Amino acid sequence: MSLIAEVFRPLGHVPKFTECHDDISTVVEPDQVIIPLEYPGQVLYKPLVQAGDRVRKNQIIGRSTIGNCVHASVSGTVREIKAIWTARSFNVPAVVIERDDQPPLEVNELFNQYGVSFQRATRVQRQMALGVVSPWTMPGKFHHEESVEDFPEVRQIVIKGANEEPSIFAFELLLRHRVEKVAVGMKMLSAIAPNAAIWLTTPGNMAAWTRERLGGGVNVAGIPDNYKHRIERLVVPRLTGVDVPNLVPYRKMGVAVLSVEYLLAMVDALDGAGPFVEKHVTVAGCRIPRPTTVRVPIGTPIKAVLRKLALDEDNHVRLLVGGPMKGIAQYSHETPLTKSSHGVYLMPEESIPKDINLTCINCGRCTRSCPVNLQVHLINRYVEYGLLAEARGYHPEACTECGLCAYVCPSHRPLVQLIQMCNQFDG
Ligand code: SF4
Ligand code: SF4
Repeated sequence: MSLIAEVFRPLGHVPKFTECHDDISTVVEPDQVIIPLEYPGQVLYKPLVQAGDRVRKNQIIGRSTIGNCVHASVSGTVREIKAIWTARSFNVPAVVIERDDQPPLEVNELFNQYGVSFQRATRVQRQMALGVVSPWTMPGKFHHEESVEDFPEVRQIVIKGANEEPSIFAFELLLRHRVEKVAVGMKMLSAIAPNAAIWLTTPGNMAAWTRERLGGGVNVAGIPDNYKHRIERLVVPRLTGVDVPNLVPYRKMGVAVLSVEYLLAMVDALDGAGPFVEKHVTVAGCRIPRPTTVRVPIGTPIKAVLRKLALDEDNHVRLLVGGPMKGIAQYSHETPLTKSSHGVYLMPEESIPKDINLTCINCGRCTRSCPVNLQVHLINRYVEYGLLAEARGYHPEACTECGLCAYVCPSHRPLVQLIQMCNQFDG
């Protein structure tokens, strides 16, 4: 049995791109959105609204110190600003808006609010005003907001037209449905970074189709279905030849990585079509034979999506934001979907292990499955007993957090979380 088949045995059948619904459904705007004032996890926006204010869709409701903005994704009344847990487990303030039917704010009105007219705004100001931080200022998961001038020239750009996780197909569908606009975005990127090589990943079976439509100037790289060969932190150096240490942001090495969805949002920002207020999310799960991709206002609670798709919440006892390999379990169906939520994965009771965190039996499956050849069980035991210095001798910083080790562990140990703990804490 192949590793991937072995890995997915607990989930049963994991659908391929060819098995998902080919269209993108629109979710009716929810009664309420909850918009976190954070990006992505560490930068907090200062709120520009307060409880009782009426806001219009597209209005700027929060702004960071260097001018990045977050917007109302629906028109309505601000009910409150409260602390929430995001899908990525950050405790941050969020603006709760109850929807009404006021018309959306026009882009010129939005730029009046921003303080510079659209025509006079620079490219970077347009992106910041319209909520498209990537690719030039988004350095990665340990995000600290910095000005673009602090980064080296971009020499390599990777556009993700295929999501690394099995069961998430939003990027692939956007590429298929909006390929002409993707081509426009590619031309914009070439003009912005004339010295950069541009790569576009696609599923293997879409590579020829994509090449035909995008023409020359773009390196289209078909990537295999096998998850182990799709892990982003390994794909990017393989394509670009730039070895970016795992905990170092791509941007610090002159590499920009963004999704097709972000590219399309960038086209909208630079053309003045509107801010980034809608997100594409694939809903999949063990009991869902054909995953569906929906378009939702940012801040839509997960439960609104489940109801729209007639998925019974009680039938799925565990809900992940992300996919089955790297998704984060949520404790509430109220959790809002944000710009970094690409998928929702639903697990029924029978697919959840009954016994977790049993004793390590030294079977070595974790180490054999690790794509970067870490001694996973050793690192974990050191971390478990607080011996972080000893654990670091085995280079946990090389971990891509792919989840393969945890997936194959017969003792259901929290291997990835322990490695994350080791990488994130001093001492
Ligand atoms: S999550 Fe596990 S398998 Fe994946 S890179 Fe890290 S240690 Fe290796
Ligand atoms: S797979 Fe689990 S039980 Fe086996 S060696 Fe690794 S941590 Fe131990």
